[in-house]
Amino acid sequence: MDLPKESQCAVLCGIKDIKMEQRPVLAPGPNEVLLAVHSVGICGSDLKYWSHGYCGRFKLTDPMVIGHEASGTVVALGPGVKHLDVGDRVAIEPGVPCRMCSLCRVGKYNLCKDVQFCATPPVDGNLSQYYLHAADFCFKLPSNVSYEEGALVEPLAVALYTCSRAEVSLGSKVLICGSGPVGILTMLTAKSMGASQVIITDIDDHRLSVAKQYGADCILNVKGLSSEEAAKKVVDLLGAEPHCGMECCGSDIALLSCILACRPGGNILLVGRGSLEPKLPVSLISTKELTLKGIFRYANMYPKAISMLSSGQMPIKDLVTHRFHLNQVDDAFNTAISRESCAMKVMIHVS
Ligand SMILES: [Zn+2]
Ligand SMILES: [Zn+2]
Repeated sequence: MDLPKESQCAVLCGIKDIKMEQRPVLAPGPNEVLLAVHSVGICGSDLKYWSHGYCGRFKLTDPMVIGHEASGTVVALGPGVKHLDVGDRVAIEPGVPCRMCSLCRVGKYNLCKDVQFCATPPVDGNLSQYYLHAADFCFKLPSNVSYEEGALVEPLAVALYTCSRAEVSLGSKVLICGSGPVGILTMLTAKSMGASQVIITDIDDHRLSVAKQYGADCILNVKGLSSEEAAKKVVDLLGAEPHCGMECCGSDIALLSCILACRPGGNILLVGRGSLEPKLPVSLISTKELTLKGIFRYANMYPKAISMLSSGQMPIKDLVTHRFHLNQVDDAFNTAISRESCAMKVMIHVS
């Protein structure tokens, strides 16, 4: 088959400045596949690059194709690709590591120093018509998993990784700060791992009502509350101190509330990206023997996330509240960032 010659790409050139560009399509090399991108979700990190030009310690310096939560169809195979065929529908795991270093070799490839992750500067993302990717980081979707769900595998992988690092188990009581898509996916994952009670906090009543619809046992609006006040309310509502606290909103106040609320010996998961050097009560962390765990993306979670979706145990389709086409990228980003839109996950349909 003749390869397409050009691909329309959404290039983030600066703050709130996305330009559509035609770029040449390259033929897939060894262990690569060329994909026709189908659906791309907008993530909190995409919004940070778009609105502020940075996310955590990563800064946009040169124009970069945005987008990393994607699914698509295989249109061409490079030499040596055996596990995929032209026409296969796949979820695209956006981070490709070196596969050679000691961290890669023990399976912690998310920590590989040479990982190339879509739309983390300077690596281009995949909000484009066509996209070349490592074949071993493309995962075939079962026929009952849609392209949109295929794109949602990315934030679901974060949720699975977070809950496994939190050691959620039967009867766990869980505090989740942040009722965005990652917070809600984390709640659903914690429940399916046996958590008996999950409380979600946020400052947005609409987002909290969505968490309730998805089965949160308690919700708490923490707007205007100090960390101490929020922690006390969490413990009152649960009737106990939570076993673990997951900071999924990038707020230092929320992180401190996790530390204050959690029972001694608990795990605190740093999922959101708050300030670079938040003030933390180290002596309290020490005497409560809390374990603070960083979360940097995920590793080995795509197959599990796809199985969960295919089994019907993760009813998350309705998290997609808004849909746009590739030529409406500005509208899509404006909708995703506005509180009034009540958007949860905004999806861009490329084909
Ligand atoms: Zn994401
Ligand atoms: Zn490596």
